[in-house]
Amino acid sequence: MKRRNLLQLAAAGAVTAREAAAQEQAARATRALPAPKIKDVQVIATAPQGLRLVVVKVLTDQDGLYGYGCATYTQRADLVVPAVEKYLRPFLAGKPADRIDDLWQAMYNSSYWRNGPVLNNAISGVDQALWDIKGRQAGLPVYQLLGGKCREAADCYSHASGGEIAQVVESAKQIVARGFRHVRVQVGVPGQAGYGAGRSDVKVERLHSGAVFEPEDYMRRALKLFEACRKELGDEVELLHDVHERVSPIQAVRFAKDVEKFRLFFLEDPVSPEDLAWFRIIRQQCATPLAMGELFNSPHEWTPLIRERLIDYIRIHVTQAGGLTPCRKIAAMGELMGVKTAWHGPGDVSPVGHMANVTLDVACHNFGIQESVSFPESVREVFSGCPEMKNGYLYANETPGWGIEVNEAAAKKYPFGYGERGERQQLNGGWGEVRRRDGTIIKQ
Ligand code: MG
Repeated sequence: MKRRNLLQLAAAGAVTAREAAAQEQAARATRALPAPKIKDVQVIATAPQGLRLVVVKVLTDQDGLYGYGCATYTQRADLVVPAVEKYLRPFLAGKPADRIDDLWQAMYNSSYWRNGPVLNNAISGVDQALWDIKGRQAGLPVYQLLGGKCREAADCYSHASGGEIAQVVESAKQIVARGFRHVRVQVGVPGQAGYGAGRSDVKVERLHSGAVFEPEDYMRRALKLFEACRKELGDEVELLHDVHERVSPIQAVRFAKDVEKFRLFFLEDPVSPEDLAWFRIIRQQCATPLAMGELFNSPHEWTPLIRERLIDYIRIHVTQAGGLTPCRKIAAMGELMGVKTAWHGPGDVSPVGHMANVTLDVACHNFGIQESVSFPESVREVFSGCPEMKNGYLYANETPGWGIEVNEAAAKKYPFGYGERGERQQLNGGWGEVRRRDGTIIKQ
């Protein structure tokens, strides 16, 4: 309350002079409370589940006030660490921790060339940590800082996969029995390296010794899977499917038309980010709901798709876009254009990143669906306060900030490379190769 108002009230006898003085003192103390300044920016690199996770810890000059943010880009995790330590750490030293959007813009512009996966993840780590700090300061979960809940929890889908169609159907039935209403179904082609499906020992003819994938074989098999799923699971279960950009654009047009009759919840990544112009053609020819964005890093990718209403679900990996700050703006743009959110939520996102996902899920009106997640004991040993899954719903924490604490001593027990399959370890977390029969490498 302003001093003049207090004095007027005191003069009018509404409050005593002593009460007015006390209130003024309290107001002055609030105004004088210094904004926390960034004292240090640290990186926690850990792989408790065998997948490389990178988490940024921002410490302030106020005792016990710090926050965590996800900066996980598992395929090039070692490069994110120096991007934070050698560039953002000195850049942020002494800056006010309470100006999140301002600092995001400053970090984004500080590299001059921007919108790349390594630097966007580094920015995301700091950005999410600043939201955590602001929540801890306010004593509120971050979803409250975004305006509060639009729903109680995030409806999720789970993955049913297998080398044979019957295996996938059985897996889907088990997922439904666990309370899920949405299931992503993926089936392998015998002898081939299908995305999200089991591999078999069948040998297919090829001109090389590596993994094989043939788009036409995959599409024929997937159509049979959807037919079996509708027959065995009924019409009530929502089916999702990920093409994972593995077919040519014109094949994607035909495939999107062919699956229309199975009424998918969405068809994901029918083309690659290099072929976005094809969405206009797919859109003109069928009403199959489309999800896209997992590989996006730049506004030049998501802005046209949302603006022209060419997709139904924007499916960005939040850290790859630079964190919570840009993604809440993307969600707002989507709401205006009738595009819903379906933030990417695989195992190579830290629990802090999953909490950022579910925070957007519950706080944004245009939420569509969330990829489900489970946290094994080794992950819970490092991260306490992981978001909870119940009956196919993911819940945001009710504790201040993200409500997550990192046990840094436990994190050190799981260095990069721990527990990974030989190939992934050899590739330092990166993807391997998949080729057509003749040896042509394909996107995957
Ligand atoms: Mg995907």
